[in-house]
Amino acid sequence: MSTSKQRSISRSITIRGAGLHSGESTSLTFSPADPGTGIVFRRPDLEGSADIPANLEHVVDTRLGTTLSNGEWSILTVEHALAAVAALQIDNVQINVLGPEIPARDGSFKDYVAALDDAGPVEQEAHATVFDVSKPLEVTAGEGQSYLAMSSTGLRVSATIDFEHETIGRQTGAFLLDEDGFRANVANARTFGFEADAEALHAQGLALGASLENTIVLDSHGVMNDSLRFKDEFLRHKVGDIVGDLALLGARLNAHIVVERPSHTGNVKLARAIRLDNQ
Ligand SMILES: [Zn+2]
Repeated sequence: MSTSKQRSISRSITIRGAGLHSGESTSLTFSPADPGTGIVFRRPDLEGSADIPANLEHVVDTRLGTTLSNGEWSILTVEHALAAVAALQIDNVQINVLGPEIPARDGSFKDYVAALDDAGPVEQEAHATVFDVSKPLEVTAGEGQSYLAMSSTGLRVSATIDFEHETIGRQTGAFLLDEDGFRANVANARTFGFEADAEALHAQGLALGASLENTIVLDSHGVMNDSLRFKDEFLRHKVGDIVGDLALLGARLNAHIVVERPSHTGNVKLARAIRLDNQ
C-alpha cells in the first residue's frame, strides 16, 4: 500500500555519555547505511567482531531495558536510540558503539532525535517496508500486562500505566506517533526509577550509572528531581519505549496499540506477534 521511500542520514554524528545501567562512559555514532541495510549495531573497537542487526532474533534480556547480543558481544538499553530512529522514519543506519551500552544522556529520547536531525535524514531510492495488523492481536505478559493491536493508519498507542506510588498512580493517554507527535509529546520524557529499588539493582549490576541527571527518581515523598517535564512524563516515557522496542520489527508499523502496564518483555512479545502476522 505505502509507497514511502526508505530513509537514512546524510552524514555521521557522535554522541557521548555514561550508560544508565553499566555506568561506563560510552559513545554512539550514527552513520549512513545503504537501502535494505536496516538498523545495525557495530563495535569497531572489537576487531573482527560481527555486527548486531537490531531485530527480534538478537534480543537476549528485557528486564529493565532491551539488550541485544550476537553471542560475541552485547549492547544494553537500545530502546531510546531506536525510538528516535524509528520516530524519524529512518530505515537504514549503522550505529557504532564504543562500550557495552548506549549513552543515557538526560534519560529521554531528545538527544538522539537532535543528533539525527543534525545528521540530516535523507530519502533513498527504495520503498520502505511497512507492517500492518490484519486482525486484532492480543498479547499478555506478566503482572497484568496486556496489549491489543489493531489496524490503523500510522502508529497510535493508547497506554495506561499503574504504579502504587502516589506521584504516578494510574495514568492514561492516547498518542499519535508520527514524527511530529513523537517530537511534541514523547521525545522529552525521561526514564524513571525508585530510590527504594536502587540497592537491589546495584547488587545486580543494574542502574549503576543512574543519577538525577538521567533519571526521574522517586522516593517516598515524591520526585527527587527539581520538576517534571510533563505531569504524565512516566506514561509518555513508557510510550517512547514501545516505539523503540517496536523498531526491532525492522519495518515501519501501521497499528493502533492499546496497552495496559507496558514492559520491555511485553513490547518484544507484541513485536513477535506483529511480525508473525506479517509473514
Ligand atoms: Zn526507557
